[in-house]
Amino acid sequence: MSIRLAIVVPCYNEEEVLPETNSRLLALLTKMHIAGLTSIESTVHYVDDGSKDGTWPVIEALAKADSRVHGLKLSRNRGHQPALLAGLMTVEGDAMVSIDADLQDDVAVIEQMVREHIACAEVVYGVRDSRQTDSFFKRNTALMYYRIMKTMGVDLVHNHADFRLLGRRAVEALRQYGEVNMFLRGIVPLIGYRAATVKYDRAERFAGVSKYPLRKMLTFAIEGVTSFSIVPLRLITLMGFIVSAFSFAMILFIIYGALVINAVIPGWASSVVPIYFLGGIQLLSIGILGEYVAKIYLETKQRPRYFIETSL
Ligand code: UDP
Ligand code: MG
Repeated sequence: MSIRLAIVVPCYNEEEVLPETNSRLLALLTKMHIAGLTSIESTVHYVDDGSKDGTWPVIEALAKADSRVHGLKLSRNRGHQPALLAGLMTVEGDAMVSIDADLQDDVAVIEQMVREHIACAEVVYGVRDSRQTDSFFKRNTALMYYRIMKTMGVDLVHNHADFRLLGRRAVEALRQYGEVNMFLRGIVPLIGYRAATVKYDRAERFAGVSKYPLRKMLTFAIEGVTSFSIVPLRLITLMGFIVSAFSFAMILFIIYGALVINAVIPGWASSVVPIYFLGGIQLLSIGILGEYVAKIYLETKQRPRYFIETSL
């Protein structure tokens, strides 16, 4: 049985890597076709996420040179997740593999993914074996992120980014999630079906620079928590409870001091400190509430997630 595979590659300012990525992906498609794994109609789709460099002309040239190569140009930069989603929702195939353009994910692993899919896995996660090539900072922030998500009750596949295979049924399931802020890493495990993982070593970026600076990483992390977990809201309640209990104990103590041991009037600190303390907690709580209100605000508008400008 050979499947029709579609490989989806989101690209933002990736003109330097694309030719190399493309030749590796095409070579792999040829190899898998010869091995009888994928059909001759298998394709590669580059989604240009509103790049500001020559990415689109490069994609056009690649598409002209090989009929297996296709391009999708978004009307502007929307970010990695929407770009990937645009590809997954538009492209046709029995199975789809999503991979970054920068060759950090091992292209050869796609063959294993396809084998797992043929052996009945509907979702195949690419999982990083080591993070040796990532910077110390990136490695540790990523680790912290998984820990936090775990305590928040969000079920993420450890060390899995957006390198995965989705069968047609999984893609159809994904289509039914109407949320505008799609956090694919969190949603895919929710779909269910039989899943498998394949391991690989993550390489260094082939060329170009990371499009995920600290600011974007933080936004991504907050998105991940607030679109999947209501634990922060519960923490507010818990915090409120603890502070109230503490204040109540303090009141009892003051009454005791005044009536029984006739102590002097409590000092300035004991009246002023709680004001700041409560003020802090309230501001923090309002902030967390605001995060969720903002989510509701953005979701209720049901804004379109992307527009496709050109399709090759
Ligand atoms: N990307 C995108 N839109 C963006 C930012 C990134 O499509 O706004 C793509 C980028 O071209 C790459 C993938 O998302 O194919 C992952 O980005 P990058 O490698 O820069 O992230 P990192 O690996 O450093 O986390
Ligand atoms: Mg990368």
